Amino acid sequence: MSNKQRIVVVGGGIAGLALSTQLGQHLGRSGKAEVTLLDRNGAHVWKPMLHTFAAGTANSYQQRISFVAQAARCSFRFLPGGMQDIDRQAREVVVSPIVSAHGEEVLGERRVGYDVLFLAAGSRANDFGTPGVGEHCFFIDDLHQAETFNDRLYADLLRTAALGEPLTIAIVGAGATGVELAAEISQLLDVASSYGAGDLRPRLTLTLIESSPRILAAFPEEVAGAAAQQLRTLGIDVRTGVRVVGADASGFELGDGSRIEASLRVWAAGVKAPEAVAGLQGFELTPTGQIKVKPSLQTTTDECVFALGDCSSLVPEGASRPLPPTAQVARQQAMHLARHVPAWLDGKPIPPFILRDLGSLVSLSRYNAFGTLGRHGLFRNRFIRGRFAQLSHALLYRLHQAELHGLGRAGLIWLSDAISATVRPRIRVD
Ligand SMILES: Cc1cc2nc3c(=O)[nH]c(=O)nc-3n(C[C@H](O)[C@H](O)[C@H](O)COP(=O)(O)OP(=O)(O)OC[C@H]3O[C@@H](n4cnc5c(N)ncnc54)[C@H](O)[C@@H]3O)c2cc1C
Repeated sequence: MSNKQRIVVVGGGIAGLALSTQLGQHLGRSGKAEVTLLDRNGAHVWKPMLHTFAAGTANSYQQRISFVAQAARCSFRFLPGGMQDIDRQAREVVVSPIVSAHGEEVLGERRVGYDVLFLAAGSRANDFGTPGVGEHCFFIDDLHQAETFNDRLYADLLRTAALGEPLTIAIVGAGATGVELAAEISQLLDVASSYGAGDLRPRLTLTLIESSPRILAAFPEEVAGAAAQQLRTLGIDVRTGVRVVGADASGFELGDGSRIEASLRVWAAGVKAPEAVAGLQGFELTPTGQIKVKPSLQTTTDECVFALGDCSSLVPEGASRPLPPTAQVARQQAMHLARHVPAWLDGKPIPPFILRDLGSLVSLSRYNAFGTLGRHGLFRNRFIRGRFAQLSHALLYRLHQAELHGLGRAGLIWLSDAISATVRPRIRVD
């Protein structure tokens, strides 16, 4: 019988794919472990780009990484399917059946055994049970949802260009997702107008709705203030301190009894764990379903099960609140585990995870970007804006690509992105 450790990673997002890649290269290649990645999709995309795919200002095909190809190159195995449950007694992940778009069962329920399990299944927006939201709003939580929204936006934009119909869009939630999506839609209208569709901007009513007193509640005030001003300059109606109590086929109902009419409605507020995680038994969960972890990122109830990224909740020592669900936390947790798990398999402890705060940045399409660069380096805690902030925002994605592909291949991808940006249309045009 083989004495290889069976390592299973659930979720090939920012945290899970980086971890599978690193563990595959270090433990899979040397034959020390068999690393398996499980994901319900066939390809990875950088989630902070979803709003650009939703708006049609970036091409998702160009940014996808096929799990099968990455697995073959980096010595891990890819198993398609969604985690349905964990049988901790048998140490098996229960994988739900795969059903085709026509309703045929392609693969039945399966089970995959593990010695060590990493849960990295991400998060979803949280509608807090608000009536009508599930039926009448678009969500931008994964590529499929971003593309579904884009299809509808594209159809509405065609009607606006051809018939002069108004385009009314309302986005609930002015965190990074909502703010960046609003700016991207504005960019889409500008580029579409420059492609000869006439001046579409006067036809657009775009409302950004936020229940907190200000937008970008998780960002420093200076960043939020500058972003709000930029959005207003773009003609976006930014409404803060407004509570949405219901959604229907023509708009949102507000707490004070008034309404915001919108033919396209997006829900981008709140964060909760995906159902498959929130429904797990035998783990300590937060009220929104994230798995509580120790500083080593091991779950509080099972040393062989780790959780990282958005689906986990870690309150650092001395802090009163958990780390935020962000790309930099997910990325750094994956690299921390990739560094320390090989020694842990040989009996050494995993040191506590400490976040290196690289700051918080928000990018308003090509118009501007704002942020701070964290507590390290030359620009620590300094407010930045403009081209430098845009480049810093893009750097996190470029670092992720370098970790997945190595510097040489990542360099070629950056070059091909730069060439595409000059030779292809800047928005979806067909
Ligand atoms: C539009 C948008 C913009 C954002 N902008 C920023 C930003 O500017 N800066 C920033 O720091 N953060 C941003 N974020 C947040 C950031 O994307 C997340 O914090 C980050 O992606 C979390 O990484 P993760 O690996 O935990 O999860 P993800 O990257 O979401 O990956 C989760 C993976 O798990 C898979 N999965 C889910 N359920 C299952 C299951 N049951 N079985 C198998 N696989 C499953 C999914 O298919 C996915 O591949 C943004 C998010 C959105 C939606």
